[in-house]
Amino acid sequence: MKKVYTHNDRFMVFQVKQLLDDKGIDCFIKNEFAIGAVGELSAVDAAPEVWIVDEEWLPKVEQFIRRFEEQPESSESWLCKTCNELNEPNFEVCWKCGTDIYDN
Ligand SMILES: [Zn+2]
Repeated sequence: MKKVYTHNDRFMVFQVKQLLDDKGIDCFIKNEFAIGAVGELSAVDAAPEVWIVDEEWLPKVEQFIRRFEEQPESSESWLCKTCNELNEPNFEVCWKCGTDIYDN
């Protein structure tokens, strides 16, 4: 088993977990309930972590996580460069012409 990701923001950790789940990679979260539960632990010690079961996935996982971290801030609408259509933040491809958000 191997730790592949950690972040103080639990939401980020869950997103990575979800990402790996979607790819069919066996993974789990450590320290899921640590934050805020124990006052004496520092935030870093208690940060939730994503672990993979099979280390053979590591190169792929690192690639997915790198791409995840490079994603533009997803809380804002984005403008498609191909057709100039405004897209909702949760869309990863333009709803009108199908351009991938990462190609923008
Ligand atoms: Zn478009």
